[in-house]
Amino acid sequence: MTDKKFTIELKNLTKKFKNTIAVDDVSFNVEENEFFTILGPSGCGKSTILRLIAGLEGQDQGEIIINGIDCSKMPANERPVNMVFQSYALFPHLNIKDNIEFGLKIKKIDEKEIKRRVDEILDLIKMRSYINKYPSELSGGQRQRVALARAIVNNPKIVLLDEPLSALDANLRIEMQRELVNIQRNLEMTFMLVTHDQDEALSISSKIAIMESGKVIETNTATNMYEYPSKKYSAEFLGRINIIDGYVSNTSDQKIFKSEIFGDINLENDLDIPQDAVLGIRPEKIIIERSSKNIENRIKTKGTVIDWTYYGDMSYITIELDNKKKIYIHVQNIHRNTLQELKIGKTLRASFDINDLIILEK
Ligand code: ADP
Ligand code: MG
Repeated sequence: MTDKKFTIELKNLTKKFKNTIAVDDVSFNVEENEFFTILGPSGCGKSTILRLIAGLEGQDQGEIIINGIDCSKMPANERPVNMVFQSYALFPHLNIKDNIEFGLKIKKIDEKEIKRRVDEILDLIKMRSYINKYPSELSGGQRQRVALARAIVNNPKIVLLDEPLSALDANLRIEMQRELVNIQRNLEMTFMLVTHDQDEALSISSKIAIMESGKVIETNTATNMYEYPSKKYSAEFLGRINIIDGYVSNTSDQKIFKSEIFGDINLENDLDIPQDAVLGIRPEKIIIERSSKNIENRIKTKGTVIDWTYYGDMSYITIELDNKKKIYIHVQNIHRNTLQELKIGKTLRASFDINDLIILEK
């Protein structure tokens, strides 16, 4: 068995600003060639973690190990990382080519080598025809691509990206997300990106760390963070979820979750369930039932539509059950002529598979 190779190892990292604990005893590892994303609300400490890794701030406690070397006290300019900021600070008086070359020239790299690398990067970001333009002549997305090119032209092993796409409009952002993923895969670099945008985190990352108030709540692969989160906070932060409150009742041969909303739910006996656990079910896992017959392993319910939001391909509906509890259902609009079933005031039957329930620690 080979050991996993870590590019970044954070050990008990803590950073305080006066009375604020911006980063609170954070530990996690980033593997080589991973697209690692820190996701969390504004002010939770995401940028501070990147700044600590880059050496732009000093930590109060903890260690930062990069490529196996303890960089905890290393000056910023000696750390093997490159950072791309939210506001892409290009030099306004330099054209695109000079902007990209700038760092290489400072390092006194051979002219031929500079040309080779800049040519390669221009193709990668599809900006070859813009080399003589100035930043003010480019769109936001183009400027962001140049900023990225400037960060990766030095072939860093690690690129730190602080909300690099947040200034772009929605379509361009999605296009740039795809490009970031392609660049990261093609160049085999480790990307560590920070965002507060859950869709962005899901669609680009191989791994996600979810943060709240300076703490990392959970680290997981992107798919598992959505399908099998272990904490209620991460389940609610990443996507929508119906939380099912209740408590576990153990008999000798059966484990039952006593829920207010759906009554008794039989769980597999060998499941390890924390004391204060709740259950969760994602809205797209619930389907509308047209028959009332019982199907094995499915929980069935019935309610009245009290809210319907139409997205063209999808409908997001809320139904209120007889016990006044509400559940969210995401319905794919497969047929035009069934849309009327979703109208406010209509009564619906719905069901979901017990295997799609998620056990969540509070
Ligand atoms: P995020 O990037 O997740 O929005 P930050 O890492 O920028 O959050 O900030 C985390 C916390 O630390 C916030 O409460 C912020 O106000 C505080 N903070 C960040 N930088 C400084 C600083 N230089 N001086 C004082 N407080 C700071
Ligand atoms: Mg920030």
